[in-house]
Amino acid sequence: MAIIKDYKFWFVTGSQSLYGTEVLTQVEEDSKKLINKLNESGKLPYPIEFKTVGITAENITQAMKEANYDDSVAGVITWAHTFSPAKNWIRGTQLLNKPLMHLATQMLNTIPYDTIDFDYMNLNQSAHGDREYAFINARLRLNNKIIFGHWADDDIQTQIAKWMAVAVGYNESFKIKIVTFADKMRDVAVTDGDKVEAQIKLGWTVDYWGVGDLVAYVNAVNDADIDQLYEDLQEKYDFIAGENTPEKFEHNVKYQIREYIAIKKFMTDKGYSGFTTNFEDLVGLEQLPGLAVQLLMADGYGFAGEGDWKTAALTRLLKIISHNQATAFMEDYTLDLRKGHEAILGSHMLEVDPTIASNKPRVEVHPLDIGGKEDPARLVFTGRTGDAVDVTLADFGDEFKLISYEVTGNKPEAETPFLPVAKQLWTPKTGLKSGAEGWLTAGGGHHTTLSFAVDTEQLTDLAKLFGLTFVNIK
Ligand code: MN
Repeated sequence: MAIIKDYKFWFVTGSQSLYGTEVLTQVEEDSKKLINKLNESGKLPYPIEFKTVGITAENITQAMKEANYDDSVAGVITWAHTFSPAKNWIRGTQLLNKPLMHLATQMLNTIPYDTIDFDYMNLNQSAHGDREYAFINARLRLNNKIIFGHWADDDIQTQIAKWMAVAVGYNESFKIKIVTFADKMRDVAVTDGDKVEAQIKLGWTVDYWGVGDLVAYVNAVNDADIDQLYEDLQEKYDFIAGENTPEKFEHNVKYQIREYIAIKKFMTDKGYSGFTTNFEDLVGLEQLPGLAVQLLMADGYGFAGEGDWKTAALTRLLKIISHNQATAFMEDYTLDLRKGHEAILGSHMLEVDPTIASNKPRVEVHPLDIGGKEDPARLVFTGRTGDAVDVTLADFGDEFKLISYEVTGNKPEAETPFLPVAKQLWTPKTGLKSGAEGWLTAGGGHHTTLSFAVDTEQLTDLAKLFGLTFVNIK
């Protein structure tokens, strides 16, 4: 569900016919060599395919048009090996409607002082060729990605890999479909928004379905399927009955498994890749989905609570970009304001994503003093340490703003025996006071996506591709 594999990137090398066929043949050979080395590096999540040497406006325009119509092409990578007169790129680049990356590199990473001559210079002109080409992209006000450096370097290959993930996320964003089971939580402002504008701007489809439609799926789940998954999950998680009778524990866990299977089938049947629930509307359900939601997030589905479709879709998008690694729906739950301990404890009443777990999650059943339903089963675990970003999307009426800061993730300082939920501690890198004041000033909400696998450069690239205002608090 989460890992999108069926994409590739095209490579178009800039040149011109001034240098003769010998040089053009070499340009093509060098391009293929560079592409093969990148593909063989093992760092790139998607393959690069050589498309053409761009020599004329006609063949460049043709390549870009073909890229638009080939659904397997996520974007185009360009490089000016020789000087490539940039007027030849204008029409094709204007028509391209997929992410564009300008790899400003040179075949050799050095100046061959002993052997360099005019033949070498006819072939290797990226120092000035890349500037001619970059000018026209800047003049066209394009949000193309520029990566400068030697193509064989580790950090450049990592940068290409990260951009590829963003480019695929951009393509996939137009396929994100969120189902809201019930509407959003009554009276809440920050989780609301303009669904039509979200579809225009970000490609997201957001549909309402009544809880009754889900209940029909819940009631139709086969008991044998529930029993099988109940067995299987004991391999992955520790089942802790605690204060519950064995019968109650088993019943309540199995009910969450029933909800998991039902929600998954509902989404599969109707093409959804994310969903929301709302504890205010659970008519016909025994429990607020908890463990059910956590299992679906582990599968890669987007989710947010209380009908927050913006965060559900954002989480799905960042799960695609992170290949579903350590990327979670999160909520600012409570604060540690003591000097030297400044931190936010993140959690939710149940639905914390086990992709950020640092220990083996426990399945537990406890009362939930909200929603008026049966005690829900949930996964309880501890979050992780490491660098992360915390991100939200705010609707200001006239625009969406992507708001984020970099944070340091930590494990909570102690256990919370009376708060049996999964927990993640973090502190904004700019400091809790500065970070929180920046966040509050920007109008960022309390529902976020926390990712240990996406970074600020990727968020910047993503915001550029969508033309979003990006508020990076630092
Ligand atoms: Mn919430």
